[in-house]
Amino acid sequence: MSCLFCRIIDKEIPSKIIYENEQVLAFEDTNPQAPTHILVVPKKHISTSLEISGGDNELIGLMFQAANKIAKDRGVAERGFRLVMNCNQEAGQTVFHIHLHLLAGRRMSWPPG
Ligand code: AMP
Ligand code: ZN
Repeated sequence: MSCLFCRIIDKEIPSKIIYENEQVLAFEDTNPQAPTHILVVPKKHISTSLEISGGDNELIGLMFQAANKIAKDRGVAERGFRLVMNCNQEAGQTVFHIHLHLLAGRRMSWPPG
């Protein structure tokens, strides 16, 4: 298995785990772009958002629920946070296992770069 995030999920590669349940894992991004920068990934391998199918509807909801829980636990929910999922090259996707970036702790600009 060559997918980086599958290897993190399997604990073959260490990560700073923030939250885990049967379907979802969340861990610190190693190159943080904000004071809080956490990646929320499904344990099922899905390479890009284009590969999300109807059978994944519950799983995608669980990713958002995990992100919401982490934001609340960190005390950033009321201030605000940003959830980002990049899809393919021009959006900047570099790891082809879908992930929500949970960014918080600073003022976010819009439009994003
Ligand atoms: P994206 O560019 O949207 O595909 O996001 C990939 C993210 O994974 C980037 O923010 C990287 O900093 C992050 N990343 C890469 N390798 C690791 C790793 N081993 N552990 C945690 N985060 C990683
Ligand atoms: Zn994977």
